[in-house]
Amino acid sequence: MTNAELAYGVAAAGANVLGAVAVTSRATRSLKALDAMLSFAAGFMISVSLIDLFPDSIIAAGSLAPVMALAAYVLVHLTQHTIGRHFHFGEETHSVSEVVSVSALVGLLMHTFVDGVAVASSFRVGAGLGALVFVAVLLHKFPEGLAISSLFLAAGASRSKALAAAGALGASTIAGLLVTDHLDFLRTYGLAISAGVTLYVGASNLVPELQDRGGARIPLSFVAGCGLYFVARSLAFA
Ligand SMILES: [Zn+2]
Ligand SMILES: [Zn+2]
Repeated sequence: MTNAELAYGVAAAGANVLGAVAVTSRATRSLKALDAMLSFAAGFMISVSLIDLFPDSIIAAGSLAPVMALAAYVLVHLTQHTIGRHFHFGEETHSVSEVVSVSALVGLLMHTFVDGVAVASSFRVGAGLGALVFVAVLLHKFPEGLAISSLFLAAGASRSKALAAAGALGASTIAGLLVTDHLDFLRTYGLAISAGVTLYVGASNLVPELQDRGGARIPLSFVAGCGLYFVARSLAFA
């Protein structure tokens, strides 16, 4: 773990908290561009998962890597949609119970832990992939913090609790980053797990959130996320 990696982790965690600050200070009305940003992030995340994380995970861990990627995908699905029955990105507009907000936090803690594992594992491959995965993580960190804190507020929690929930997501990200180098399991399968979870966040959290929106802005942002991934990749691997 280098200082640069830690700085990336702190920046990602900071974006979680910033998303919460936007909600608790009621600045979200000026966040109309958030939908397009989420759609862009989805394209970018699905691209990094399929084009780099998945093949690299097979190079690192062999034929068990795809199984681990699927297992990670299934585990996030179960924690976000079975144990916790209500979670979506974006500002919460439904009335929810405290149980719902806490179970969504548990599901997201697992996902954010893997955000950290993804950054650390990809830096083990090289600085280029590390930078690409960091961008993929950073792009959805602000909405992630916004989502959990608005869910807490909708469940009747105080502003400080809503901020603390986003802080916990940030801390979990840094924890994932810190432990990856020290656990054999994560050193071997970290890339595979990251491939599965990054694919989940892009394809199963973000895309379903946005596919009902009318107009061309959302699909174009998605395609731009995929396209700009290739541009970022050619810069990162130059
Ligand atoms: Zn809702
Ligand atoms: Zn995340």
